[in-house]
Amino acid sequence: CKQMERSRMRFVGEAAFQALDTGNSSKQRHLDTFCHSSREARGQSLIQRTIMRAGTELVATEGVAAEVDYGISPRFANVKSSQILDMLALANELDKADPSGVPIIRWCASESGFDTPRPIVEEGMKALQDGFTRYTDSAGILELRQAICHKLQVENGLTYALDEILVSNGAKQSLMQAVTTVCLPGDEVIIPTPYWAGYPEMVHMAEAKTVTVETSIDNNFMLTANALSAVLTDKSRLLIINTPANPTGTVYTRKALEAIAAVVVKHPRLLVLSDEIFEHIIYSPATHTSIASIPGMWERTLTVNGFSKVFAMTGWRLGYLAAPRKFLKPMAKIQSQSTSGACSIAQKAGVAALGLGHGGGKEVAAMVKAYEERKDFLVQRLQALEGVKVFPPEGTFDVFPDFSAYFGTHVAGFGTINDAETLCRFFMKTAKVAMVPGDCFGNGNCIRISFGSSMEKIKEGMERIESVMPLLKPSTLP
Ligand code: PMP
Repeated sequence: CKQMERSRMRFVGEAAFQALDTGNSSKQRHLDTFCHSSREARGQSLIQRTIMRAGTELVATEGVAAEVDYGISPRFANVKSSQILDMLALANELDKADPSGVPIIRWCASESGFDTPRPIVEEGMKALQDGFTRYTDSAGILELRQAICHKLQVENGLTYALDEILVSNGAKQSLMQAVTTVCLPGDEVIIPTPYWAGYPEMVHMAEAKTVTVETSIDNNFMLTANALSAVLTDKSRLLIINTPANPTGTVYTRKALEAIAAVVVKHPRLLVLSDEIFEHIIYSPATHTSIASIPGMWERTLTVNGFSKVFAMTGWRLGYLAAPRKFLKPMAKIQSQSTSGACSIAQKAGVAALGLGHGGGKEVAAMVKAYEERKDFLVQRLQALEGVKVFPPEGTFDVFPDFSAYFGTHVAGFGTINDAETLCRFFMKTAKVAMVPGDCFGNGNCIRISFGSSMEKIKEGMERIESVMPLLKPSTLP
C-alpha cells in the first residue's frame, strides 16, 4: 500500500510539474480533480502542495533529490536579449565557418575605436601601484565628485552639492537606478522613438509602462512639445531625453528643450531623465544643452553622464548621476546595498579624464575630429545610394539610415528582404558588414551603423556595401 501511495505521489508530482510548466490548464483541472477525489488538500495551491508533498515523500523515502525550481521573477522574465549582441554572435559564427578568412567588418557596437587617452590610463596605473584598491565611499571618491561638480558648473551651468552626485559603474547603472527608484509599478515612462535600446527594458524591470512617442526625420528626430502633451496622463512619471541621441545622432536645440520644459513643468509628477553620455561627441554648429539648466527644470531632472563614449572608456565602467538630494539619497542607499560603488581605479582615472580640460581637452577634440571625418564620408556615400534616406548626425558616432525602400525585394540565392533584420543579414552574408536592425531602437525602417571604429574600416565597409547594392532594387521603383 505504501509502495502504491509512493508511485501515486510520483505520478501526481511529475504531472503537476508538467502541467504548470506548459501552462496546460485542462491538464491542471484534471489533476485538481484527481487530487481532490483522493482526500488531498484543496484550494488554490492544491497542485503546489501536491508537488511539495510528492517531492518531500520521494526525498524521504527514496533519497531522490527535490526538483530544482527554475522559475524567475516576472519582473525579469520578459527582458529582451540585445539584438546588437545577436548580430555580433552571428558575425562570429559566419566568420568561423568562412574559409576565405576575410573577417566581417563590425559596425555594431557604439564604441570608440580609440584607446583610452594616455593621461587617463597612467592615472589608473598609478592608482594600482599606489595600492588604491580598496572599497571607496559608495557614492564615489570625494576628488571625483568634486571634479564632477566643477564640470557640471562650468560646462553645463548646473550647480550641485557633493551629496547630489552619485558615481556609478557606468551610465547604464545610473539610468537603471533612476528608473527603478522613481517609478511606481504602472507609472508611465515617455520615450521618444527612435530610442537607445536599453530604456524600455529598464522600464519593464521597474514594472512601469513604456509610452513611446514617434519623432520625424523631418524634425531631426526631436520630440515636439505637442507630441509630448498628447501622451501625458496622471500616470506620467518620467520623460527620457537623450542628447546627443543614440541611434540617430540628434542633438536637441535649447529652443526645443525649452518647449519641452514648458510642458513638463505643468505636470507635478513628471520628471526628466536626461542621458547626456555623448555630450562632447558633437559636430559644429550643434551645441549641447542640459535640460536641467532651463529654469524650473533643475528640481525635476535627473542628469546622467559618464566616461564610456567621450573618453573612450567603455571597459572602465564609470558613470554618474546628478540630481536634487531628495532623489539622490534613496539611490545612494540602493547603490550602497547593491554595488558598493564604482571601481576605485576607474574613479582615479575619471578624475584624470575630467582634468583634461573643457570638453575633454585636446585628446577628446582629436577623437571628435576623426569621428567627424568618418561621419562626413559615411553620410555622403549613404546619400548616394538610391532610395536611402539619411539624417546627418549632429553628434555621437552612430548614423541611422532608412533603407525601407528595399523591403520586399527578392534577391536570388538569398530570399526576400522583408525588413531591417533580413536586410542586415543580407549585408552581413554578402557584403560582410555587420550592422544592427532598427527594430531594437523602435524604428524598423532603419539600420544603425556605428562608426566609432576607424576610417579604414568605414571606407572598406562602404565599398563592400556598394558592391552588393546592384543585387537589391528599391521596391518603390518600377
Ligand atoms: N546611454 C546611451 C545612449 C548609450 O549609448 C550607452 C552605451 N551604449 C549608455 C547609456 C551606457 O553607457 P555606459 O557604458 O556608461 O554604461
